[in-house]
Amino acid sequence: MTVRVRFAPSPTGMFHVGGARSALQNWIYAKQQGGVFVLRIEDTDAARNKPEWTEGILSALDWIGISRGSYEGPHFQSENAGEHRAAAARLYESGRAYYCDCTREDVQARTGSQYQGYDGYHRDRGLGPGPGHALRFRTPDEGATVVVDLIRGEPTFENKLIEDFVIARGDGSPVFLLANVVDDMTMGITHVIRAEEHLPNTPKQQLLWDALGVKPPIWAHVPVVVNEKRQKLSKRRDKVALEAYREEGYLPGAMRNYLMLLGWAPSGDREIVPWSVIEEEFRLEEVNPSPAFFDEKKLRAFNGDYIRALPVDEFVDACQPWLTGTGTIAPPPWQPEEFDADAFAAVAPLAQTRITVLSEIVPNVDFLFLASPLMDEAAWAKTMKDGSAELLDSAVAAFEALESWDAESLKSTLEAVGAERGLKLGKTQAPVRVAVTGRTVGLPLFESLEVLGRERTLTRMRAARLRLV
Ligand code: GLU
Repeated sequence: MTVRVRFAPSPTGMFHVGGARSALQNWIYAKQQGGVFVLRIEDTDAARNKPEWTEGILSALDWIGISRGSYEGPHFQSENAGEHRAAAARLYESGRAYYCDCTREDVQARTGSQYQGYDGYHRDRGLGPGPGHALRFRTPDEGATVVVDLIRGEPTFENKLIEDFVIARGDGSPVFLLANVVDDMTMGITHVIRAEEHLPNTPKQQLLWDALGVKPPIWAHVPVVVNEKRQKLSKRRDKVALEAYREEGYLPGAMRNYLMLLGWAPSGDREIVPWSVIEEEFRLEEVNPSPAFFDEKKLRAFNGDYIRALPVDEFVDACQPWLTGTGTIAPPPWQPEEFDADAFAAVAPLAQTRITVLSEIVPNVDFLFLASPLMDEAAWAKTMKDGSAELLDSAVAAFEALESWDAESLKSTLEAVGAERGLKLGKTQAPVRVAVTGRTVGLPLFESLEVLGRERTLTRMRAARLRLV
């Protein structure tokens, strides 16, 4: 039997990090089993679907390493509508489903004040199809439905507690529960690996598989992803869109490594591992069923490690979207013609060890490309104290006299200027840094001045000095 798994997102919003995690788990499982990964876009909620969300899913998967053309699909659920209706008709004809025209209020009036689920009123009343008649599945009165779940063992659901659920609406359109099963069936899916949120649907869906006469798949419900308050990640409250992380400058390698650690860990005392190790060692059966904490701080630290591990030329390439403003990434504060690739290449190794997300490259290097620095006024106020004017005067004079404009000479020169005033280097360089870069923190100062060049450095120092008059 060839293993066939599927990832079945609904194109109703930004692509969620939890979805990316499930996709990767499906992807690895298929690879390990010599199986097939199928992408199915569940686009039957016409009111909430948008084509751009489908494109977003494809491009997010591509970014995370599940590249277009390397899987089966995308298939679209809407293309299978005929099969969904045919399955509903088969269930009706075989007596496994029946029509019902009760409203919720009708059921409530019959069964008491609290709605406890459908009471089976139309089970044997012989109502035929018609407008407003929903089709309900006749769940067995006895026995239990045992779900075989690779992560959760054998969750067991008593059939008498499962209400006769709706499989097609009053207008005849099949609901998600049925469409999802019929698609899995027609696509020959053998393993359904999906989020824990769907576990309550599973016994109902398995009953549908049984009723349609096909052996149900093996299930694996992967743990829900939660925030630091143990709340399920929500798009209104938490940063959940993969796209947001991508725009901030997370590397796909760091992201997919981190996502795979939600509920699982590789061997040994390590977390950052090459993808090949994850592909080899990951075991779906070992995934912890408890909710998995999505720790953005940890992800960020991971990303910093991944950035530092890049060869410098790859780091330079990886920064390009932020240096030029590509796609949905905001343009930098300088004009394209102000950018100097050589100057950037000269400071790139210094920046590489300091930033944790690629978007941080912009505030670290903008002083190199702007005609005058973007002044952080709070930094100015904090740094420019009594004595700063004189210090800048001395530093300008000393720098003007420098024979060689290199980091080492700049450093020893400024050190000497400070020493005359009994100041340590840190205190001496603070006003120079603010004057030249507009900030109190940034790349190593003297290397920055070397790259910026004598003329621009001195112009900025003189301009700062004038401001202090
Ligand atoms: N379309 C469903 C969702 O996005 C997936 C259901 C499934 O994986 O079975 O939640």
